[in-house]
Amino acid sequence: MIDLDFDKQHIWHPYTSMDSPLPVYPVTRAEGVRLILEDGSELIDGMASWWSAIHGYNNPVLNQAASEQLGNMAHIMFGGITHAPAVELAQQLVAMTPPALQKVFYSDSGSVAVEVAIKMALQYWMNTGKASKKKLLTIRNGYHGDTFAAMSVCDPVTGMHEIFAGVLQENIFADAPQCRFEDPCQESDLANITSLLEHHHQDLAAVILEPVVQGAGRMFFYSPDYLVKVRALCDEYEVLLIADEIATGFGRSGKLFACEHADICPDILCLGKALTGGYMTLAATLCTEKISEGISRNQGVFMHGPTFMANPLACACALASIKLLKSNNWQKQVARIEAQFLAELAECRISDSVTDVRILGAIGVVEMKEAVDMAQAQAFFVEKGVWIRPFGKLVYLMPPYIIEPEDLAQLNQAILEFTRRGANS
Ligand SMILES: *Cc1c(COP(=O)(O)O)cnc(C)c1O
Repeated sequence: MIDLDFDKQHIWHPYTSMDSPLPVYPVTRAEGVRLILEDGSELIDGMASWWSAIHGYNNPVLNQAASEQLGNMAHIMFGGITHAPAVELAQQLVAMTPPALQKVFYSDSGSVAVEVAIKMALQYWMNTGKASKKKLLTIRNGYHGDTFAAMSVCDPVTGMHEIFAGVLQENIFADAPQCRFEDPCQESDLANITSLLEHHHQDLAAVILEPVVQGAGRMFFYSPDYLVKVRALCDEYEVLLIADEIATGFGRSGKLFACEHADICPDILCLGKALTGGYMTLAATLCTEKISEGISRNQGVFMHGPTFMANPLACACALASIKLLKSNNWQKQVARIEAQFLAELAECRISDSVTDVRILGAIGVVEMKEAVDMAQAQAFFVEKGVWIRPFGKLVYLMPPYIIEPEDLAQLNQAILEFTRRGANS
């Protein structure tokens, strides 16, 4: 038996208090789209373990890649050494992403990939004679991770880091776009960011944003047209563009990368989450020749090197995950999930407790009128045999791409029942 009492007394879970911890559910196994609890009951997973487990759990192809690599080496340092999984994965990443992105830096988590991206932008300007360009501009309601530089570009109010105001670097926040995915971007969406760029560009190293899909801060899909305009503004004002595709990368939004909705190329791109199909912790930061040349000029070196950089086991899983994306025909998988959300989840719109339903690719979001009590909601969903973890007013699904229609129907139905029952009753 998993010692839940010990867990409660000694182990910190994400964003919780040790004083009044929220209940946790003991999982002993996971298979396909199901989490299997200690008592033998099964939950259909609507979260893909925070956007990552796109091919489901205990996947034979990923298992084989991991065990084969394990037989060769689980880990070796990356300083002064290289290995096939790192080289082959970089070949894949360079080939899949926009052609200008040519250089790959591996790290071990999304937040670190964001730190690396920010460091690249700062070092680029330092080494090219514009050392005043040190600040970042971002859009409100963003989420970029929990380490310090990443926190400094999360939404200053809703970004879970408000208490660190005064400690974090003070960056510049533009109003978030209100234009929805399907609509063109309006003057009003651009007015604030344009004026901030105009006034601050001499101090700005980069604009950092989540392309098209604002994830953990808002679960909102904005118009690709806005991204096109921001790319043009960055060029006009000589500010770099960092695209954080940690949540959106590898097909989640219906394109392999969300930047493709706008057909733009960032100067720096962050990848993580689904990179290894949810098997291992791995992230990558890609940049263009222009950035790497600027950093490397006059014997410049990029100052970063994590212990577990390019972990071979993680790289081997990532390679297998990319292979699976192709052989499983991810476009078809994601399109089918989107169609089923449109047919079933969209029904939540008629419920009095719901203000909005948003669907894009394999992401389905129901925005409630009032904040949801997470512990109560979770108990409700577990009772229905599904794993859904709402936050704030948002109840959302981003299931593994391999989910079968009957299982997805059960997830949609559980949310529909939840909205009918009212958020907090
Ligand atoms: C999850 C996430 C991060 C942070 O990644 P971790 O692996 O949790 O450190 C950064 N940016 C975005 C957009 C994310 O969704």
